[in-house]
Amino acid sequence: MRDFEIIDPVFGTYVLGNAPLKQLATGFDWVEGPVWFGDAGCLLFSDIPNNRILRWTPGEGITTYRGDSKYSNGHTRDRQGRLISCEHLGRRVTRTEWDGTITVLADSFDGKPLNSPNDVIVASDGAVWFSDPHYGIMMDYEGARREQENACVVYRLDPDGSLEQVVTDMNCPNGLAFSPDESLLYVADTGRIWSDDPQHIRVYDMVDGRPTGGRLFAKPDVGIADGFRIDEDGNLWTSAGDGVHCFAPDGRLLGKVRVPETVSNVCFGGRAKHVLYITATTSVYSVALTRRGVQWP
Ligand code: MG
Repeated sequence: MRDFEIIDPVFGTYVLGNAPLKQLATGFDWVEGPVWFGDAGCLLFSDIPNNRILRWTPGEGITTYRGDSKYSNGHTRDRQGRLISCEHLGRRVTRTEWDGTITVLADSFDGKPLNSPNDVIVASDGAVWFSDPHYGIMMDYEGARREQENACVVYRLDPDGSLEQVVTDMNCPNGLAFSPDESLLYVADTGRIWSDDPQHIRVYDMVDGRPTGGRLFAKPDVGIADGFRIDEDGNLWTSAGDGVHCFAPDGRLLGKVRVPETVSNVCFGGRAKHVLYITATTSVYSVALTRRGVQWP
């Protein structure tokens, strides 16, 4: 089990000795935003500095899904299965319609442009939740340098189109996910660039549909929690500097999937949502687990 570090014995029942970490593709610059399309039998992900969304298809490999992706970062799918994307350069969150046209869901708040939407999820009521840190406008590598005009917060976009700031006590919110019953919201704070800001995951109680009472949940002991997903037991699988860390709902580190590159994000996919797809710096990896993902899609 050389690909795994088992800290709590339960983690040994989540991974399989005959299901090793696999490198699916490599040669990219900084990959992010994996999202599984079981209906199309493929994984989409962003290669942010190369301004493209790529498609990995089992048995076929890599093709380009979208060039000129506006330096897209995180993705998910809405309740109708449509692709929802965060764009650094576009400074917006978009939806790709069934006919391929792109609809802008949000690009400003209070009359001023968003910073650089980073990661996104969709709740069961159809609301789109996304983080808006400043990483894509602080330098040209992952977008373009621009003036910051809004705070770094988490937004909730109601199905009626209204946009609301819902997490306002972080330096730079990043990855986010709901617990399986949506009673909790997890948000990573990865801190401002060139600062000593704390870097950790916080958890909020959902009260009347809004996050309240944020508190520290967990902090990877190597690297940062950029993006994460939740499994059917409420465990949180997060990116870290040395792989993927699995935290129990009470915040205990259960174990790690060792990855030879810094991990940026993960998603569940595959036939039964039992495969964890991992974007890690220049490569995309997968590992089959005994747990299934619960996130939508
Ligand atoms: Mg991120």
